[in-house]
Amino acid sequence: MALIVQKYGGSSVADAESIKRVAKRIVDTRRAGHDVVVAVSAMGDTTDELLDLANEVAPIPAPRELDMLLSSGERISMALLAMAIHSMGFEARSFTGSQAGMITDSQHGAARIVDVTPVRLREALDEGAIVIVAGFQGFNRDTRDITTLGRGGSDTTAVALAAALSADVCEIYSDVDGIFTADPRVIPKAQKLDHIGSEEMLELAANGAKVLYIRAVEYARRHGVLIHARSTFSSSEGTYVLGEGMKNPREAEGAAPMEEPIVAGVATDFGQAKITVSGVPDVPGKAAEIFKIVAKSGANVDMIVQNVSATGRTDISFTVPKADSAGALKALAGEQTEVGFQNLVHDDQIGKLSVVGAGMRTHSGVSAVLFEALSAGGINIEMISTSEIRISVVLRDTDLAEAARTVHTAYGLDGDSEATVHAGTGR
Ligand code: ASP
Ligand code: MG
Repeated sequence: MALIVQKYGGSSVADAESIKRVAKRIVDTRRAGHDVVVAVSAMGDTTDELLDLANEVAPIPAPRELDMLLSSGERISMALLAMAIHSMGFEARSFTGSQAGMITDSQHGAARIVDVTPVRLREALDEGAIVIVAGFQGFNRDTRDITTLGRGGSDTTAVALAAALSADVCEIYSDVDGIFTADPRVIPKAQKLDHIGSEEMLELAANGAKVLYIRAVEYARRHGVLIHARSTFSSSEGTYVLGEGMKNPREAEGAAPMEEPIVAGVATDFGQAKITVSGVPDVPGKAAEIFKIVAKSGANVDMIVQNVSATGRTDISFTVPKADSAGALKALAGEQTEVGFQNLVHDDQIGKLSVVGAGMRTHSGVSAVLFEALSAGGINIEMISTSEIRISVVLRDTDLAEAARTVHTAYGLDGDSEATVHAGTGR
């Protein structure tokens, strides 16, 4: 008998029918003899709809009230799920984040978990109940207010519960079958991975892969939680995300250890924009000035390229999430004379392609494969950046899908058949 934490995303509990289907899955796990704790997201697009409503009544909703509002989405699904389980003859009890002991800092809309005290959950488990917890929300002890963890936060709730309860596994259910070598919507020949290292998963998630949230993977990595990403719509196993030193459960069952591929996957990101500050005086301190201004605007800088200067002036290009670019441009324009640059150019027609693999540490020639594939495809590269286990390039957005397919093939990642996509959002 194991303790299993399961997380169901909004697409898995979008309506009454899906809630019943999820209830059945939970009950099946219980019938198999396991203790079950469930973290659930708000139904379908509820969170987006609540956000829209808030914006209709107030241009800038008060953060405290916004959290009161948004946290209600998960209360609806948790109660309905508990009821559905009751009607199947099983005992279930739902808990809000604060009842579950999800203690956070006081940062509304982006709260961080600081402690988990699942006293009531343990009691309920001891009494034989299935436990349902509202995802995405917590409670701050100083302000005594409800907080939310940021979009997609239910993954983090699930992982934090798994850590606090020392669960055997944290199963994250969505409408995709697991972690793929690429987004199957972009690359139909993408293959489902048996397992992936948490470090690789973090790089993929940070570079556009949407199937798991970065913070949840980080939390799992830090606390040694085994994640199993799988689909609500099929019974087949998904992908295990393995932290350092963690054993692949399938190998423990006797399968031969597999040779790790050099490249784990290819990520695509259409969400970045490029800003070029041109005619920057080529003297010490200018980059510091520019990126201080950008940071103050709240924009999160990703790639940076500085050109060689010929005339005592240089160009600096960088990328930021599209949503941050207007703010960064405005902030820079406001300080043009102080910094002394000549021009600002905004380009939101870019796409970012990343190749990720822990094998890059020990194998040479990995980037050469990427550049050759792009060159053979006649695709122009605009920026390049690397980490120890990742190579990323910025391209025209219209080239990104084709480039990703070419590169996926070049690394030998193509599967024999097309991946099934359950026409969903991946959440
Ligand atoms: N309902 C929240 C959101 O849509 C949290 C989640 O789905 O994980 O962002
Ligand atoms: Mg959601």
